[in-house]
Amino acid sequence: FHLAGGALCQKSHLVPEMPPCDFKPEEYTGHMQWLWDVDGRRYLDLFAGVATVSVGHCHPKVTAAAEKQLRRLWHTTNIYVHPPLHEYCEKLASYFPDPLKVIYLTNSGSEANDLAMLMARLHTGNFDIITFRGSYHGGSPQTMGLTSNAAYKYPIANGLGCTNTMCPDVFRGPWGGSHCRDSPVQTIRECSCAQGHCMANDQYIGQLKETFDTSVPSRIAAFFAEPIQGVGGAVQYPKTYLKEAYKLVRERGGLCIADEVQTGFGRTGSHFWGFQGHDVIPDMVTMAKGIGNGYPMGAVVTTPEIAASFAKGVHFNTFGGNPVACAIASSVLDTIKEDGAQQISLNVGTYLMTELAKLRDKYEIIGDVRGKGLQIGVEMVKDKASRHPLPPEAMSEIFEDMKDMGVLIGKGGVYGQTFRIKPPMCITMEDADFFLAIFNKSLHNYMERR
Ligand code: PMP
Repeated sequence: FHLAGGALCQKSHLVPEMPPCDFKPEEYTGHMQWLWDVDGRRYLDLFAGVATVSVGHCHPKVTAAAEKQLRRLWHTTNIYVHPPLHEYCEKLASYFPDPLKVIYLTNSGSEANDLAMLMARLHTGNFDIITFRGSYHGGSPQTMGLTSNAAYKYPIANGLGCTNTMCPDVFRGPWGGSHCRDSPVQTIRECSCAQGHCMANDQYIGQLKETFDTSVPSRIAAFFAEPIQGVGGAVQYPKTYLKEAYKLVRERGGLCIADEVQTGFGRTGSHFWGFQGHDVIPDMVTMAKGIGNGYPMGAVVTTPEIAASFAKGVHFNTFGGNPVACAIASSVLDTIKEDGAQQISLNVGTYLMTELAKLRDKYEIIGDVRGKGLQIGVEMVKDKASRHPLPPEAMSEIFEDMKDMGVLIGKGGVYGQTFRIKPPMCITMEDADFFLAIFNKSLHNYMERR
């Protein structure tokens, strides 16, 4: 495992050794926060398959639960309630406040959002859906309509069956974030203008009201919001925004749906679910990714009342609630608790945010650092004055340089200008320091070349 460490030392004496790892890898292995490529090089994985590997690659406990279930029963379809399905649903329901107690299991986040959209329309009898600029809710033809960024849409399939999906321009400006004119960077959380968050919040709520008044006066079925935007680049809302927005939506007869595909399962650190950080209780919660630590699975959690409207039809999903997926997901919930993963998210995430803010002050090309827990975005700009996004080629240069030095991160944001850090929730402070040193080095290298 010293392969990458060796490469680092050859590259520059300023770059530290990788933190040690006792695990003996096979070809292209994953173990906890580490990945090995086909040549045996080791990488610190800070993207976790897009915030999916929640407790660690091939976590021994979760792997054992999967192996045990694979020897017992693979599949029955969800018409038979097998013990892993029953046990998992009981366990998952205990993580939700009343009245969110009815669970539907799917195989992905797109499927979960498709289902939530269908249920909202059946329950309300309405059709229109509101989502945000910068949102990502899936790649199925229906959820493509919910997803705002055109880069993820096929023109001909864009919003099929979902033609009245509204995307309020809540996050505007040359790149994601608020549009407070007095703030040096376009960020909501750290807005330092005299009016603070309130001004931005009022503007956003005003935009939402305008959307209702001009576009969906009475027909809203649902309002979809990620508690923190993931693919959009860790974009956050003003403090009371979601609470006020939920009120507006409900006044107009719509349902509020929290897409927790990225923010759920403790990733935001302070809470198990992202919505809890906004002091709201949604009518439906959709989830996937971290639910299975990399095993395909998703879910919709809703109220008995909404489920009753849905029960008028026949819902069938061949693999939803698959015994192996349920056994894995159940073990993931136990592991999050036993390993203190949410606490790690909070501790390491807070540390990373503090240290990344220092890099933001040091480098002209870091426009903003935002997020919560281990859901972090670092917004890259040409310079702080123009606030224009750093071009894709420059983003790739930094990204590839970091990969060469053994650190994997993600990219996102409306213009692909945000580095995304969302590692398995088992990383250590030592790993965090290693990442910070490599990021610093890559930024330094880039500035020297520029
Ligand atoms: N919602 C959010 C917030 C997501 O980030 C994603 C995936 N990036 C999805 C939904 C879609 O999930 P899947 O890819 O599992 O269909």
